[in-house]
Amino acid sequence: MCGIIGVSGIPDAARLAYLGLYALQHRGQESAGIVAMDRAAVARPYRGMGLVSEVFDDSVLAQLPGDVAVGHARYSTTGSTVLANAQPCSVNTRCGPLAIAHNGNLTNAAELKRDLVERGAIFTTSSDTEVMVHLVARSEADTVEGQIREALEQVEGAYSLVIAVGRTLYAVVDSRGFRPLVLGRLGSGMVVASETCALDLVGATIACELRPGDFVRIEDGQVTELPRLSPRPVSRCVFELVYFARPDSTVFGESVDRVRRDLGRELAREQPAPAGEVVFSVPDSSNAMALGFSEVSGIKLEHGLIRNHYVGRTFINPTQNLRVAKVKIKFNPVRDVIHGKSVVVVDDSLVRGNTSQSLVQMIRAAGAREVHLRLASPPITGPCHYGIDTPTREELIASTHSIEEIGEFLGVDSLGYLSLDGMLRAAGSATGFCHACFSGQYPTPVPEDLVQLRHASPLIATPA
Ligand code: AMP
Repeated sequence: MCGIIGVSGIPDAARLAYLGLYALQHRGQESAGIVAMDRAAVARPYRGMGLVSEVFDDSVLAQLPGDVAVGHARYSTTGSTVLANAQPCSVNTRCGPLAIAHNGNLTNAAELKRDLVERGAIFTTSSDTEVMVHLVARSEADTVEGQIREALEQVEGAYSLVIAVGRTLYAVVDSRGFRPLVLGRLGSGMVVASETCALDLVGATIACELRPGDFVRIEDGQVTELPRLSPRPVSRCVFELVYFARPDSTVFGESVDRVRRDLGRELAREQPAPAGEVVFSVPDSSNAMALGFSEVSGIKLEHGLIRNHYVGRTFINPTQNLRVAKVKIKFNPVRDVIHGKSVVVVDDSLVRGNTSQSLVQMIRAAGAREVHLRLASPPITGPCHYGIDTPTREELIASTHSIEEIGEFLGVDSLGYLSLDGMLRAAGSATGFCHACFSGQYPTPVPEDLVQLRHASPLIATPA
């Protein structure tokens, strides 16, 4: 998963992109990058591994002049964790410098890549985004817009894109609309971002959310709608609303906070926990769900777990012998809330089950009399091929175990999952959703070997 941003017609666009990426940091913590275009359409890229705050500082941003910029925060789903795969991907084409930031995952990238390599293309990254760059560069259409369109008609899967070609910015959402992209206005300029929380941070007002298949051109802050991509059945990623997006964002026309509260309410109706004396969330993604659960069940909402917000990705255990459970670094129970009580713990989802198992042990050690786990989404039984980083099917606990077996593994007194219908009711029925990871109904063809290809070794050498 990734966070993307584009800026047009705003001085010091790179600084604005940097701020916006800060708000999108939850969408990708592996690498960050910005490409800025100056008034002479000279492109200056800067990319690095790590968080936005680790990659950029004042002196770096000072080297990125211009009023057009494209930014990206990456969480790898295709391609390995190396600097070469950090985005935006930037190249020189016959139409000028091109920078592309991609959120999503293509399902036919490997096939297209094999074909391109056979025809002489040379790849410098193992990410699927570079496939689109080659397709754009090789297109014989006579306008940039035609080239982009021709490239996109060949790819399958999920893509929300921000592309700069010289000083012109393009924003596109694939026809199924898997990933969000929103357009905002700031003075006489425009900002396009994965989530509205990025617009809020930079002070832009929301102009509109791009619909599935939308393709727009932004020049000097002016937006022009281009002919839309060929229509396909809409399949918005429901997991954006369940887990991925920030609750202060509006995604697919829905307040994420509103959806999460409703998920909690539905959960309380479908999977009540009458023995519960207090209810609390696994912070932060399920806070609103616990609130909704409490509202409907009448069980008192408490803060039973505290999350340490300063746990970086590169936490080093101070002594090798100190075998502190990973989960303890991140969460600590509030004893007073838990001791002697029958507690209801609300979480958004269960993936491998390891975090929840450790949390349940921790809650019991803090004196809980009974632990009732409630999950505000259905069992995850299949991997995502559209941009969310999920493990292989074998690692997903619900793909190989019954609910009863999972409950035993976790060590809970009771376990309840929200149904698919309950989840979709809460998500809002106005648009079609992709729920393949829960239902196994994949909206695009999925090549047999896709997972293996996704995790396969890159076509380029990994820097030492
Ligand atoms: P586990 O079942 O131990 O693998 O972890 C479940 C927790 O991971 C849940 O509390 C979710 O909030 C969180 N989660 C769900 N999906 C993802 C994902 N794609 N990447 C990282 N964390 C996730």
